Amino acid sequence: MQTGYEIAKEHYQKTLDEIFRYSGTSHERVMSGPQGAEIVVDGKPALNFSTNDYLGMCNNEKVKEGAAEAMKTHGFGVGSVRLMSGTQDLHKQLEKELATFLGTEDCILFSSCFDANGAVFDVLLSDKDAILSDELNHASLIDGIRLCKAKRLRYKHLDMKDLERALIEAKGCQVKLIATDSVFSMDGDVAPLPEIVALARKYGAMVLIDESHATGVLGKHGKGAIEHFNLMGQIDIITSTLGKALGGGTGGLICSTKLLVTLLRAKGRPYVFSNAIAPPIIGGTLAALKNIQEHPECVQKVQANTAYFRKKMLEVTGFKLAGNPDSAICPAILKDEKLALDVAERLLDHGIHVMPVRYPVVPKGLARIRITITAAHSFEHLDKFIAAFKTVTEGKLDAIKAAPVPAK
Ligand code: PLP
Repeated sequence: MQTGYEIAKEHYQKTLDEIFRYSGTSHERVMSGPQGAEIVVDGKPALNFSTNDYLGMCNNEKVKEGAAEAMKTHGFGVGSVRLMSGTQDLHKQLEKELATFLGTEDCILFSSCFDANGAVFDVLLSDKDAILSDELNHASLIDGIRLCKAKRLRYKHLDMKDLERALIEAKGCQVKLIATDSVFSMDGDVAPLPEIVALARKYGAMVLIDESHATGVLGKHGKGAIEHFNLMGQIDIITSTLGKALGGGTGGLICSTKLLVTLLRAKGRPYVFSNAIAPPIIGGTLAALKNIQEHPECVQKVQANTAYFRKKMLEVTGFKLAGNPDSAICPAILKDEKLALDVAERLLDHGIHVMPVRYPVVPKGLARIRITITAAHSFEHLDKFIAAFKTVTEGKLDAIKAAPVPAK
């Protein structure tokens, strides 16, 4: 007789085969040594264009010292959730400093931004309420929204007319919450926050933004899209990650009013029922945050690198990268899945590490290589990427541009 697993296995194998047949197989490349602009991946030295370590903090000496010192003084782990015996003075210090940095009354930490986004909607919204969500929001926002009972209204990506349509549809709901990535992780688009805030005011809605790819990257001091758009103090709820520009460790945050943060501490399930962040991560993040504030030039460097890269890529290759000009996420949309895989593999032969992103992560026919620019890149690194991209896509770019964009 077949076991339960043997019965189920065929189904799982078919699902996996379907994904691989469509998108081609690829493997997770293995890095030996630390994160950075120059890495060793699958045993080969390469320039790294596939990291969200936007400020080059992952292997920063001060960040590592901060982590080591915290481990020495506060131990390796806490072995507890925050509400039992998991809260150390370091957690409180980081929450306070993040709230000050982002200009909000309070801050609450989670094990990841995925958890922060998983917690927030269920706590704040009931079946009397409505959530208005950009259709291309990050998976963690989508999953968090699935966990709450509010009416779900999706609006077309960045489409303010459609958001207004959804706000009108939400009339009569008690609480209305607009939720959007500020910088979209696969497309590099930036949400039009001033318009979103204006619509929120007009229709009595709150606004939540996920700043995971904006914190440390946008704004003169790296405070994110809120600073870039001069909206400090005007966004009701900010979620972000500690796993990218803020040291690249792990962890997530929600910055908001005291009232909402206190409610999240009481009812946010991933906060109440999951372990506190380990002391070395907190110590390293505190050092990264200090570093950003003492050296805002690292923020200016990622911004200057992004501008240089986008401009030069167009000049040299004639290929326009997707996304907002201010976004350090610079996708090269190649459309065809196998081509994206092939280009990424050939780039590695030229000493460039960049990964193809294909279905099911992005829609079919919109495969891309997702290029990220960091403060750790030099102009020479950027020029090397552009030269390699030109070589490996020689003779292919016109066909890529002419290929139709799939209907939604
Ligand atoms: N939100 C966005 C927009 C992201 O891109 C990511 C991670 O890629 C997350 C949330 C999740 O962040 P974390 O890695 O802290 O769970």
